[in-house]
Formats: sequence, C-alpha cells, structure tokens
Amino acid sequence: MSEKILQIENLTVNFDGFRALNNLNFSLDTGELRVIIGPNGAGKTTFLDVITGKTKPTTGQVTFKGKSIKGNVEYQIARLGVGRKFQTPRIYLNLTPRENLELSCNRYKNVWNALFGKPSSAERRTVAGLIETIGLETKADLKAALLSHGEKQRLEIGMLVAQSPDLLLVDEPVAGLTDEETENVGNLLLALAESHSIIVIEHDMEFVRQIARKVTVLHQGTVLCEGSMDEVQNDPRVIEVYLGKQEDDHAAA
Ligand code: ADP
Ligand code: MG
Repeated sequence: MSEKILQIENLTVNFDGFRALNNLNFSLDTGELRVIIGPNGAGKTTFLDVITGKTKPTTGQVTFKGKSIKGNVEYQIARLGVGRKFQTPRIYLNLTPRENLELSCNRYKNVWNALFGKPSSAERRTVAGLIETIGLETKADLKAALLSHGEKQRLEIGMLVAQSPDLLLVDEPVAGLTDEETENVGNLLLALAESHSIIVIEHDMEFVRQIARKVTVLHQGTVLCEGSMDEVQNDPRVIEVYLGKQEDDHAAA
C-alpha cells in the first residue's frame, strides 16, 4: 500500500489550445494537510476539477489510493472517497443544521427515509459529534437560513465530513468571512486534519499562515515551488509572480 493518497504525474489540460494545466506533478501523503496558493488563472480550480473527474486530463495520470481514476466519472470518484467543498455553501436553508447533517450521512440512501425516517442511534451519535466539531451546538435546531456566512461554511464542511471522504478538497473556504469566522474555519480544518487528508485552496494569506504546514504554489498551470510558508514567501519566483499581479487578486506577497 502506498503512503501517498494522491499522486499526479505529468498532468496537462488543454482547453482549445490553451494549457490551463501544464505538465503538473504533485503528490499528497495520507493524512497530510496541504494548502495550494497561486494567482488568479494559475489553474487551481482546474486542478480540483481533474481530481474530482469534472474535467478529463488531456495527458497525464491521477492516482488516488494507489489506483488510477481514469475512466471514472464524478459520482464514482466521490464514492471512491473524494469529497469537495465548493466556494459557496450548498446547504438546505429551510432545514436545520442537524437535519442537513442527517441528510449528508444518508447521502447514498433514500432521501425520503433520510428526511422522515428515524435516524439510527449510530447516525445520531455521528451527527451529534459533527455538530460539536463544527461548533454549532447552540444553533443545531434553528433553520440554517439564520446562520451567519461563516457558520454556513462550517456546516457545509461538516456535511462533507459526514460522507466520510478520505480526501477533502476545499476551495477558498474563508472568502468573505470575518476575521473571527476565518479563525474558526481554520481551527475546524486543523481539527479535521488529524483524521483526514485535506487540500485547501486559498487566497487569504493570514489564513494560509494559520493553517499551513506545506504550501504548493501554482503558476501558469504548473508547480512553481513547494515548502513551508516561510520558504515559499521568501522565494524570489513567488514574490515576482505575486507582485506583478497583486492588484487583481488581492493576494499579499
Ligand atoms: P484559478 O482557479 O487558479 O484562478 P482556473 O483553473 O479557474 O484558475 O483557470 C486556469 C485558466 O484556464 C484560466 O486562464 C481560465 O480562463 C482557463 N479556463 C478554465 N476553465 C476553462 C474552460 N472550461 N475553457 C477554457 N478555458 C478555461
Ligand atoms: Mg479558482
């Protein structure tokens, strides 16, 4: 068994002659938390689209848990254990956080039963544990519409975890959040990192500093450099890439 949960070799994605990803190589250890940064247009979202099967590679190979994902479509890759959180929360606003989490635990079961059937005691334990993990104990039975933007983000991260993925992909989780909520989301991701492999894409450098162990910098569809936050921030190539672009992507160098 390989200790790499994800391995990407020579990945290229060609959109009508434009290389959104260009001979990209990447690997993630099982249990690792990795942050990916890079200016707008660097290929970060396309990179996640390839891992989840939304976009097919032009060339190159993606290996998840030791097996090529080639030939699998999105829902099959999700079942293999890849979970993705999109930038805007996708929760049911007229249900409570508890109900939203119960639905996610029942993702592959009958929706009617999930909504109106009684949850098993194991499911209740899972849901109660998740509510605690995401810090929504006092709001678990209010309509999700009443949650703040940051609380909705935490709820959606909880819903993703409820599906027990082995690899969590999280795209810009703190965009538009207050400083306090940013820190809460950071702490939640750090707690989840104790038992999951996680890739976080993020622009907010304060936040990256809070959670980052190893950082990968993408630029023009390929890996520019990798290392600790300090190493990456002092790399002249990274400084150049960010300084030239600072105004349009509000990413501090
Ligand atoms: P990032 O998330 O780092 O901002 P993206 O992965 O969204 O970057 O995009 C990388 C590049 O690929 C951009 O120049 C974008 O315009 C281009 N691109 C993304 N998706 C498509 C597509 N479906 N067709 C053509 N070009 C695309
Ligand atoms: Mg993007």
